[in-house]
Amino acid sequence: ANAPLRVLVTGAAGQIGYAIVPMIARGVMLGPDQPVILHMLDIEPAAEALNGVKMEMIDAAFPLLKGVIATTDVVEACMGVNVAVMVGGFPRKEGMERKDVMSKNVSIYKAQASALEKHAAADCKVLVVANPANTNALILKEFAPSIPEKNITCLTRLDHNRALGQISERLDVPVSDVKNVIIWGNHSSTQYPDVNHATVTTSGREKPVRELVADDQWLNTEFITTVQQRGAAIIKARKMSSALSAAGAACDHIRDWVLGTPKGTWVSMGVYSDGSYGIQPGLIYSFPVTCEKGNWSIVQGLKIDEFSRAKMDATAKELTEEKSLAYSCLN
Ligand code: NDP
Repeated sequence: ANAPLRVLVTGAAGQIGYAIVPMIARGVMLGPDQPVILHMLDIEPAAEALNGVKMEMIDAAFPLLKGVIATTDVVEACMGVNVAVMVGGFPRKEGMERKDVMSKNVSIYKAQASALEKHAAADCKVLVVANPANTNALILKEFAPSIPEKNITCLTRLDHNRALGQISERLDVPVSDVKNVIIWGNHSSTQYPDVNHATVTTSGREKPVRELVADDQWLNTEFITTVQQRGAAIIKARKMSSALSAAGAACDHIRDWVLGTPKGTWVSMGVYSDGSYGIQPGLIYSFPVTCEKGNWSIVQGLKIDEFSRAKMDATAKELTEEKSLAYSCLN
């Protein structure tokens, strides 16, 4: 039998936390043969609720769950973890300036970076979910210099999955037959959902989405804005945010990273830019990636048209601005 892997979830008493911990304990994240020990962290005001979640995790009697720690101590939470899913963050509240939210999160991610660097397993894989996800991940990377930069990522898989879902609905095909959409850039409304390389398998053959949809007007406008604004649409409908699909996407992200992407398929991940596609190094930017043996690599050589170029640059520009705002909060 495999030795258990330790999985940290921060903000575990929150909405996404409540949705993701049972998924992890059922093997959705690391596979049906991989036992896990859950490390759940939250802040002091949420300690009692966190303990309630722990009680439910015990009561659910998950066969793969070999232990569950619920703590408000960041050192205990990070100790020996192999995977860290960073969901905890300071929420945007009515009337708060962007800079105030950024400032709170910068200090949270700076502190958690140090704890992970000192106490996590040397090869710990980190996924930042809490917003602003790309910039929180960048701060984490900067303040955990001994964690290899390839091990620090942020979540854009939810946006990727939303794009697959929109194509599936439009063409009335199963979502599992759609692949290779791309989310470029920031996990924000400037993200660019790109279908230029996406395909659908129909009667055993892969066909370009552009050919099947045959409505460039829809693909270039409504499709993009629907994906960009899907989070807001769900909040409007549910009066709560999209925790279920965010938790599912976080599991997809880690599973593909650890276990590999299927041949011929790529996914979107926010990773440290190496300058691919002319994106300035030093940003955490969402790219198309394939994964093998626990490592991601950016898909190279895709043709980028002028329409895409402009959108990719606009979201990069926003990330550059967020980065300087984050740094101004540090000083
Ligand atoms: P959620 O669990 O709904 O969301 C957590 C974070 O994920 C937020 O930053 C949220 O961003 C982000 N997020 C990213 N994608 C999505 C998505 N698709 N849908 C929803 N959220 C998304 O928040 P809760 O308030 O329920 O829980 C947060 C937990 O974090 C609480 O238990 C709280 O106690 C804890 N916390 C921890 C802190 C720390 O570690 N120091 C500090 C503050 C809180 P957005 O805000 O943009 O929705």
